[in-house]
Amino acid sequence: MKVSRKSFVKSAAILAGATLLNTHKTEAQITAALVNLENDFALPPLGYNYDALEPFIDKLTMEIHYSKHHQAYVNKLNDAKAKITSWNYKTLNDVLENINDIPKDLQGAIRNNAGGHYNHSLFWSLLKTNTIPSEKLVKLISENFESMENFKTLFTKAAMGIFGSGWVWLIKQDGKLKIVSTPNQDNPLMTGIAKDLGTPMIALDIWEHAYYLKYQNKRADYVTAFWSVLNWEKVEELLVNSR
Ligand code: MN
Repeated sequence: MKVSRKSFVKSAAILAGATLLNTHKTEAQITAALVNLENDFALPPLGYNYDALEPFIDKLTMEIHYSKHHQAYVNKLNDAKAKITSWNYKTLNDVLENINDIPKDLQGAIRNNAGGHYNHSLFWSLLKTNTIPSEKLVKLISENFESMENFKTLFTKAAMGIFGSGWVWLIKQDGKLKIVSTPNQDNPLMTGIAKDLGTPMIALDIWEHAYYLKYQNKRADYVTAFWSVLNWEKVEELLVNSR
């Protein structure tokens, strides 16, 4: 399928933040993802190798997490979407912000799987070794949480406090940064569902499938390792582009 340059740029702008997460995509790959979004949702290219985050996140976990778990969310989202006759959503964000408008019998499936698709797409883009936060970012985080060290302590505490499966987030809410958590595959874009709404800046997967192979029950070690692979450049990009 051919997409004109003009419509490509337009779609790319609409999708910014949700699908165009990786910096290493070719235009052809991005175009393919956009074409797919208008029809079916698709797994975004990871943008790096499965072993790129070793030893902090192991190769096998990355492979299973991306190619099996994330793919399953995408497949189930497409299955549920196919059963909805009046699908008017243009973007994934659009779906998440209007979950309550989805027919009741399919709402759970869309909520879990659109959430799973968005959360993992964002998560992959937030992983990269050897990045450091800019002075500007450190200042902003310090203004909101006293210090970078205290921010990490509070974020870790939130991660440790999740019972069962869920996600911990740094979000921008009414111009302020806030640490929040959500159960299952919910996220802070889900109007009428999430307790705290806001624009995600950092996301950490607290499902056991994200860390059990390497860390087993030691969730705290996984959270500590996360700081070594958090892509601060991406965090800053999300912050700059946020409302
Ligand atoms: Mn996961």
